[in-house]
Amino acid sequence: MITAHPGLPEFDYIKPASLSEASAFLAQHVGEARAFIGGTDTFVRMRDGAWQDKYLVDVKGLPGMNDLTFVPAVGLRVGAAVNMNRLIASPEVNEHYPVLAEAAHTVASYQLRTRATVAGNICNASPAGDTGGAGLVLDAKVHVHGVDGERVEALRTFFKGPGKTVLKPGDIVTAIEYPLPPQGAQGKYLKLGRNAIGDLAIVGVTAFGYPDRTTSGYRFFVALASVAPTPFMPDMALLSEKSITLELIDEAADVAMKSVKPIDDVRGSARYRSLMVRNLTRNALTDVWKRLAK
Ligand SMILES: Cc1cc2nc3c(=O)[nH]c(=O)nc-3n(C[C@H](O)[C@H](O)[C@H](O)COP(=O)(O)OP(=O)(O)OC[C@H]3O[C@@H](n4cnc5c(N)ncnc54)[C@H](O)[C@@H]3O)c2cc1C
Repeated sequence: MITAHPGLPEFDYIKPASLSEASAFLAQHVGEARAFIGGTDTFVRMRDGAWQDKYLVDVKGLPGMNDLTFVPAVGLRVGAAVNMNRLIASPEVNEHYPVLAEAAHTVASYQLRTRATVAGNICNASPAGDTGGAGLVLDAKVHVHGVDGERVEALRTFFKGPGKTVLKPGDIVTAIEYPLPPQGAQGKYLKLGRNAIGDLAIVGVTAFGYPDRTTSGYRFFVALASVAPTPFMPDMALLSEKSITLELIDEAADVAMKSVKPIDDVRGSARYRSLMVRNLTRNALTDVWKRLAK
């Protein structure tokens, strides 16, 4: 039963000394132990009674978790414990991945972003998560430590449903890696919430594009949040097949609208969400195209 604001239940706080110890503990306590970093989803869900874990496993101090590094040949590596304010303030992120900083900046408030992380945001797998879209269009890779060692998962196949990912018992996300975007790339995140700050998205649209001589002149990607069981990318191939015009962007926005499977909830109706996908996709693509064409 979910009871709003009953106070935190009792739990044991576990601070493992290594990733191997953390993965082993989580795998041995399936269904009763949970990794956490910022805790901004975890403690709210525990307080509300939605999650009833006996053990919370603090993984934020483990090796590599706090690293934020940029190497052009490899890309940007965001350790799982890097909080959103640190990410937003990074000169490399602002220069090479501004759409990621823009998306992170829409999450809740400054205070909350001192705790909230991109890793927590994607592991939480909320359809409304703000940073998943940037990761999808940028083709991010998720570094995972599990009981069998390390592996890398593509973010594009990471989300499996609301609150569900490809992660298995014992898996801990250690970092998210974003390849260097192609020269001249531009991106935009547009979020519609019930208020200007601090609300989950009714609809979130990430648009991303770059010059590409092998196509119409550009390649575009769009990711949508809060309009399907997971964040996802509608097929924008039509924008590579013909010269870009405002009419073609309208057509692409229509394709995006027809690809969604929204629900009615407290934040908005399914119909409103569908129509807003069309408007926001049109606006975000137009913004990106205008900057590309400059
Ligand atoms: C008031 C408020 C406003 C909010 N507003 C927004 C908003 O506008 N937009 C938005 O997208 N979100 C919002 N959120 C949700 C939340 O802040 C984000 O999802 C945040 O990014 C979660 O990061 P965290 O580090 O706090 O995650 P945590 O709470 O630590 O973890 C979240 C989930 O991920 C799992 N997890 C965490 N780290 C790992 C790991 N390394 N490996 C495996 N699993 C892991 C946990 O087990 C848990 O299931 C809001 C939350 C609050 C309380």
